[in-house]
Amino acid sequence: MQTLVTGGGGFIGSHLADFLLDETGDSILLLDDFSTGQRDNVAHLVDQDRVELIEGDVTDDETVTELVTHSDRVFHLAAAVGVQRIVDQPLQSMRTNLVGTENVLDAAAEDGTPVFLASSSELYGKSEDVPFAESDDRILGPTSALRWSYASAKAIDESLALAYHRDRDLPVAVGRYFNIVGPRQTGQYGMVIPTFVEQALDDKPLTVYGDGTQTRSFTHVADAVEATYELLTTPAAHGEVVNIGAPEPTTINALAERVVELTNSNSEITHVPYEEAYDEDFEEPQQREPDVSKLEATLGWHPSTDLDRILEDIIDERTEAVVAE
Ligand code: UDP
Repeated sequence: MQTLVTGGGGFIGSHLADFLLDETGDSILLLDDFSTGQRDNVAHLVDQDRVELIEGDVTDDETVTELVTHSDRVFHLAAAVGVQRIVDQPLQSMRTNLVGTENVLDAAAEDGTPVFLASSSELYGKSEDVPFAESDDRILGPTSALRWSYASAKAIDESLALAYHRDRDLPVAVGRYFNIVGPRQTGQYGMVIPTFVEQALDDKPLTVYGDGTQTRSFTHVADAVEATYELLTTPAAHGEVVNIGAPEPTTINALAERVVELTNSNSEITHVPYEEAYDEDFEEPQQREPDVSKLEATLGWHPSTDLDRILEDIIDERTEAVVAE
């Protein structure tokens, strides 16, 4: 079986590649343009016989068609992600997220190749009606607040996937990721946990945005990868959108305190107004928590948050990196 992972050099994509290597006999094609993916993420994979790394862009129709045509299944994880990046590079981000997905779905529909499409809890927007179920209404801000361009693009991606399923019988499963975290995630695009861990290890102030009472439901990447694989390989999930997350929210204040404790850091915790952190039009979901009943009904399990395990994995990785330098 030949499996294509777009965004295979990325944070989740590289963990999925590890999983496929360990748990299946697949030959694995990894497509990445390394715009946000890191070469280090796949350095341990490129020498494996069963892995081939292709440097290319998902917006390049020819490359995508060629790879999808030679694959038996596709995990489409390539996307421009991270609030900071979306706000800084809205046009490029939207093109990657819209054109890339259409290229993958269109090529897969030729032979009915099964696809997993990575989507995001960002789609629920500013709704405060937690926990969020897949069939809930979405509440997004104005188009002038650039952050929402990501939710809009991913919503079109989802609608496209469902349309390909209905009109072309494409076996496609959509997973909405909720704040997936773990080793290899970079803080470069604003992700909170790697940012806090790096600040704490450097004894620099932890930058909590807003008043820190906002919540997020963090999910270990190992659980997210397993759910991703199972959704693609479970026919009942085809044509469905399913939340992937752990239903246990944490406030950002509590997260910052725990990071300081676990790193034995001397860092202070500071609060930074949103307009200073991003820009004046910035808007932010106050709460985010998945309803996992559909995931549970489809796969028979759902991830649970063990925040300390997540933080310890990341702290260990960052500490080892410093020792190795
Ligand atoms: N955040 C923070 N300090 C940072 C980076 C992020 O307080 O240095 C907050 C951010 O405002 C949000 C939460 O942490 O409330 C999660 O942010 P992230 O960008 O990781 O993911 P999001 O849920 O916003 O997509």
